[in-house]
Amino acid sequence: MSVVQKTGPSSKWYLPGIVVGLGITIRHLFQNLMNPKKMPTINYPEEKYEYGPRFKGNHVLTVKKDGSLRCTACMLCATNCPAQCITIVASEHNDPTVEKFPINYEIDMLRCVFCGFCEEACPVDAIRMGPEWQTPGLNGSQFNYDIERLAYRSNLKGGVLSIVDDDERHKSGI
Ligand code: SF4
Ligand code: SF4
Repeated sequence: MSVVQKTGPSSKWYLPGIVVGLGITIRHLFQNLMNPKKMPTINYPEEKYEYGPRFKGNHVLTVKKDGSLRCTACMLCATNCPAQCITIVASEHNDPTVEKFPINYEIDMLRCVFCGFCEEACPVDAIRMGPEWQTPGLNGSQFNYDIERLAYRSNLKGGVLSIVDDDERHKSGI
């Protein structure tokens, strides 16, 4: 229910309100100029906000000690993904101790909602979400992250080592 308030002739004098508003703006302007470090904003892109280590940013596929992918193509992450943005193509490995591995692993970052369910579903620490969040691109195809980008992009410096060791993994049956 909306209430219609009757307004008197004095309410038509909006000029005092504008003057008070301008006064507040000018006060903040001078406060910020005198003490820029206390400003609640940052000068992006010159200054960048550092998120905490638990921030769920861009995905990383982890690697084993030999540099190959940790992922066993079990599909748990893709099944758990609410946005259905993970595509995995699995293949058998030549090494009989490796049950399966992904020949294609793609995440459509434009559909991803950064919920972290893929990371939580993975039983072998093969996918993580890191603090990286700047993802510029010139067209939609640049947001389809493949294995090369997820595991071996230059800022990962050869790949992020999975904390799950092969021997330990086989001992615990995963
Ligand atoms: S963060 Fe969420 S939406 Fe994005 S790929 Fe993982 S499960 Fe899917
Ligand atoms: S849950 Fe982990 S091991 Fe399984 S397909 Fe996803 S990233 Fe690979």
